[in-house]
This record gives sequence, C-alpha cells and structure tokens, in this order.
Amino acid sequence: MRVPVLAYHAINISGNDYASNDHVAFAADLRLIDDLGLRIVPLQWVVDQVNGIADRDLSRCVALTCDDGSAFDYFDLDHPTHGMQRSLYHGMLDFIAERGADAQPDLHLTAFVIASPQARQQIDVSCLVGRGWMGDDWWRQAAESGLIAIENHSWDHNHPCLPSPGIDGMPRGSFLDVDNHTRADAEIAAATRFINERIAPQQTRIFCYPFSHVADYLRAEYLPNFAVAHGMQAAMGDGATPVTRSSDRWNLPRYICGWHWKSTEALREILQASS
Ligand SMILES: [Zn+2]
Repeated sequence: MRVPVLAYHAINISGNDYASNDHVAFAADLRLIDDLGLRIVPLQWVVDQVNGIADRDLSRCVALTCDDGSAFDYFDLDHPTHGMQRSLYHGMLDFIAERGADAQPDLHLTAFVIASPQARQQIDVSCLVGRGWMGDDWWRQAAESGLIAIENHSWDHNHPCLPSPGIDGMPRGSFLDVDNHTRADAEIAAATRFINERIAPQQTRIFCYPFSHVADYLRAEYLPNFAVAHGMQAAMGDGATPVTRSSDRWNLPRYICGWHWKSTEALREILQASS
C-alpha cells in the first residue's frame, strides 16, 4: 500500500485558475486521477489498513481530504471578488454526472471541520467576509450523502484571530502549544463530542493537526494513550509521502494543494511516483 492523501482548502480562492483556486484544482484533479487509472477511496479505508483492522486491496489508490470546514466545501457560494464557486461536493457530483457512477465507485472526500461555534463565527468575521460561511448546518447532510465524512480539525484551531489566551493560558496561533492533558482534552476530546452530536449516528474518528503542527505531546502521548476520551484512530500531518503500512498512525502524511503541488503536471508526477 502506497496511498497519496491529497489535501485541499476550499477557502483558497484568489482567482479562478488551477494555481489560485482549490475548487478548480479539485475538479481537474478528479479527472486526472481517473485518467491515470487510479482509484479514489475513503481515507477511513487507509486508516483501517494502517491500523491492521482491514486488509483491502489499496494498490493504485488515492484519498482526498479538505480542511477547515467552510461552507464552500458543500454549498456553491458567490465569492465577493471571484464570483460563483462550485463546492467540492458539487464538484464530485459533476464528475459523477460526466463520467458515470462506475468510474469511481468509492469516490469520497474527508472534510476536517472546526467544532466550536464561537470560534467559527469569529473566523467568519475576522478572516472571511462575515457572511456566515463557517456554519455547521451542512455537516449532517454531507455525512449522509455518502460522499463526505465529517472529521475532527480541533475545537478552535487555536486560531490567532480568537481572544487570547485560550484554555489553560494557551497562547493563540500555534498548535504546538497543545502540550498537556488539559489543553489536549479541550482541543480534541471536546471537538469529538461536539461533532458526534451533530452527525450522529456517524462518528468522527480521524484528527487533522491545525497548521500541520504535530505537537509531540499529542502524537506520542495523548492520542495513543487516551483513545477512550478522544475517540480518534489516526491523525493527519503534512509529510508529503504516500501512506504505507508502516506510517505513524498519529502523523499520517498528506500532500497539500498549493504547497506540495501547484499544477496538474506536478500532481501527475506525485501520483505516478506513488503508484
Ligand atoms: Zn486548518
């Protein structure tokens, strides 16, 4: 198993071409993956394989993720500068309409969302344009669509726009400061409980480190030892290598769109080198 896990940020919209818009890149990449004869599978399948609780054939597979849980993941929205944006969800439906449901029968996207309503509202006002684009009204529909899993991107991202300090005197702006049990429970276990209430009977099982900050305490102590509290089975970082059976389940690598690749050609090289 060598599965590249790709990551998108639907809020990355500074134009309407591949390099400046993750919606455009995502739509093009679905077709590239399909053209290369690769199979898109749910990230949960990859996690199951790493954890030894399933043994599927995951050769020549790719998994897709997106971060931060803005409404752009699910709803088509009118961007104030760059116009109507096709959501990632509708991008998948467009792909199915174009190529048929049999082209990628396991097509799936894992969306990592921020749990705290107060944090999301503050981010919406401070970092977006205050149009209510950080709601959680789409989580359940998305989870029930069968095409999207709603997963854990922490309680509040310890985002720099939030009032400082955070819980337990934590300074804002870095996830590396989530370095003790109190902070970890507040950022991860509390997020699990909130998200699970919203998407029941489905449950979140995969964590994604905000800012790709893999805090040692979380990777080596909290996540491995307190599963009953946080319910996580794996955690995603940004290692830019394919996931293999020997990957660290608490720091599974991903490739980030706009960082590790910026064009179809660059992604083609990543995918061909992996498979
Ligand atoms: Zn994030």
